[in-house]
Amino acid sequence: MGSYLSPPGEVYCPNEACANHTNQVPVGIAGAYASFGKTAIGNPRWRCSVCGKTFSRNTKATARQRDHHKNKIIFKLLVNKMPVRRFIEVTNIAPQTFYHRLAFFHRQCQAFAAHRERALTNLAIRRLYLGVDRQDYLVNWQVRKDKRNIQLSAIAAVDNEHGYCFGVHLNFDPSLDAAAIQAEVETNGDLHKPYPHRRFARHWLNTDHDEASSRSMATKRRNLSLSTAIDDTYAAALMRDDIESPDAPSPLERLPEYGMQIHGEYTMYGHFFFLKRLLGNVQKWRFFIDQDPGLRAACLAAFHDEIRGRTADAFYVRINKGLTVDERRHRYNNAKAVFEQAKAAHPGMKPQEVKRELIKERLAAMTTRGKWQDQWLDHPFPTMGEPDKAVACLTDLGDYDEDHKAWLYNKASLHGVDSFFNQVRRRLSLLVRPIHSKSNKGRIWNGYSPYNPGNVATVLDIMRTVHNYILPGKDGKTPAERLGLAQAPLDYEDIIYFS
Ligand SMILES: [Zn+2]
Repeated sequence: MGSYLSPPGEVYCPNEACANHTNQVPVGIAGAYASFGKTAIGNPRWRCSVCGKTFSRNTKATARQRDHHKNKIIFKLLVNKMPVRRFIEVTNIAPQTFYHRLAFFHRQCQAFAAHRERALTNLAIRRLYLGVDRQDYLVNWQVRKDKRNIQLSAIAAVDNEHGYCFGVHLNFDPSLDAAAIQAEVETNGDLHKPYPHRRFARHWLNTDHDEASSRSMATKRRNLSLSTAIDDTYAAALMRDDIESPDAPSPLERLPEYGMQIHGEYTMYGHFFFLKRLLGNVQKWRFFIDQDPGLRAACLAAFHDEIRGRTADAFYVRINKGLTVDERRHRYNNAKAVFEQAKAAHPGMKPQEVKRELIKERLAAMTTRGKWQDQWLDHPFPTMGEPDKAVACLTDLGDYDEDHKAWLYNKASLHGVDSFFNQVRRRLSLLVRPIHSKSNKGRIWNGYSPYNPGNVATVLDIMRTVHNYILPGKDGKTPAERLGLAQAPLDYEDIIYFS
């Protein structure tokens, strides 16, 4: 997850039979190499003093691309929901050129993001209100005789004040060879060990998948009240083989055909430890996470010292999204009326104080839910985006006064991460919401879905950089500007030509 942040590697002799290669002697060491002019496109070239081989380094991002003047329009169309086939038609490029460009934009976005985000270790942030949630994606079947779907899930952290997405991580690793790992597992005794003790514990193996999917009970009830939905989530979690594992494969799903799917709980733990390493100078962390014991465990484990030191707190936030627009408006207007009434009854109070008092009233009437006796607050200030919201503090050590507590509950929201994920669905044709068709025995096929699971992570990374640096919000500013990582909105060309 964090590898993109490492500075680019040093250049040394590429000849594997040469001592300068074996010892990784970098260019710049006196006497090891001689400067040897430039390549046709202007990249520097050197000659190795040991073996005499010449080599160069590609410093020009768009080197060896024909049609690189089309990059900007291809990049813009990519994040404006152009389906791949239309793309190829409109921009008149070959299909393989499209996928090469996709990989190129990805490299550029990651290099650009890394260049800015290395500063996050020292950037002083007073308060971080981080919403953490997940989104599922569908990958179409490649082999016609096996029409099971591949479903992947990404976890993202977006802060509510600046809107910056600090990371979006998919439970998929394209660099692994599933067949090789399966073969090793069959000889190294992994299959007879409990999951956490295995050499390949974080990888989903076909044998495990078959076993897990045959036991699946993927029956979701719909249109529940928020409190029933919260209780159901606790109950379903208790049915899991491993309470922290969110994965529940069904017989209609399969593992990816290349690369490997990673167990959801490992992705969650990785995500929170990644955040801790990325952000080195945060005074107070406030996590607002979706109700899932795996997310809770990962958050509390990674930030255990900060929670004890009282510089971090975590809350479950649960939103009822099944409401119609009319129901949303109704709830919103009701809450507004209650607030206006309270304001009129206390003419001496500032609106913030009235809000605090109303939350304190609710704090006295919380409901206890689930095995861990979590105390849920029915949030008194719904918005149109979060029309019905319940919040539970996961780190209440009994040492905060009522005012402080009320203020933290008031801040609880998933709106930052929610709007990032909405943008993903709205702007990336590869990741639109799949359509269930009744005629297909529960299988799902989406004309726009990717066939290559690696492309899901690729476009998510691209979207993250575009969201953070290029697309301004209603205030005319990008999340990076609000956070202090940029002076103005950037242009697609700033990413394309970044080096
Ligand atoms: Zn050499």
